[in-house]
Amino acid sequence: IDYTEGQGWHDARLMPYGPLSLDPATAVFHYAQELFEGLKAYRQEGGAIASFRPYANAARFNLSAARMAMPELPEETFVESLELLVQTDREWVPTTPGHSLYLRPFMIATQPALGVNYPSRTYRYMVIASPAAAYFGAGRPVSVWLSTEYTRAAPGGTGFAKCGGNYAAAFVAQRQAVEQGCDQVVWLDASEHRYVEEMGGMNLFFVYGDRLLTPALTGTLLPGITRDSILSLASDLGLTAEEGRLSIEEWQAGAESGELTEVFACGTAAVVTPVGSVKGADRAWTIGDGTQGPVTSRIREELVGIQYGSRPDAHGWVHKIC
Ligand code: PMP
Repeated sequence: IDYTEGQGWHDARLMPYGPLSLDPATAVFHYAQELFEGLKAYRQEGGAIASFRPYANAARFNLSAARMAMPELPEETFVESLELLVQTDREWVPTTPGHSLYLRPFMIATQPALGVNYPSRTYRYMVIASPAAAYFGAGRPVSVWLSTEYTRAAPGGTGFAKCGGNYAAAFVAQRQAVEQGCDQVVWLDASEHRYVEEMGGMNLFFVYGDRLLTPALTGTLLPGITRDSILSLASDLGLTAEEGRLSIEEWQAGAESGELTEVFACGTAAVVTPVGSVKGADRAWTIGDGTQGPVTSRIREELVGIQYGSRPDAHGWVHKIC
């Protein structure tokens, strides 16, 4: 769907997948005025195809758009665009258990103009799709690297927005994590490099017996929809959940004393994944025995059960597509 200042959204169309032709001066190439979303279509027990909380993605898309000086898209249009794409061929949604169709709505600035003083006056919103397995093998604990050299987001910046530039600036730290023998980078706060924020593409939860703690939304981390769902699911499972602040010293001390029993990461792609070990420039520790714990397993099963239709959808999160 195209957008032109003064005219609004126009020319919605369904097209075969293929290359785009864009002027080399197109604004997105130079100033990274771009944002995206990520969600999945699931083949439910019984055969229906459904997505999970697409209106939450629509709302976050518009939050990102406002930060990037881009036009908002009506939430209804966002959700309809996903429905139309999946309804084109429901066979695109994998039948393999645990697999799904990943949906990638995104928006780019399309005005061919090199001036930096004002945002583009034209935009294009698109949706593409790709079959997906879970990001990490279910239950395999990931190892994480604490990034003290780089910062993902600073107050007043774009940390809460899902814009491509955040990810471009993160690759160097992710590469460093891999060089350190870890799977993923953990980002810390910008001023002290001490308080835990989030992972490369996931939010984090810390488990103290039956109490969950997740870093509060301070504006520098992405308000994950999986994170939000787990905050609601916790009480269904007899757990308490709170948002707060956790330093790396508290993380290490909790893991070493055994008070901190489990840590997991969560996100659309990662689902719910245990964190087994942590490494930083001057410290390293493991969590529990380094394998997936019972709270992480229960939360994963509950969430996946709702998404695939084998557990009751008490919160009304499942959105039937066809
Ligand atoms: N943080 C970052 C930086 C991410 O890219 C993602 C994936 N969208 C998440 C957290 C998790 O968000 P969600 O649960 O909405 O997928």
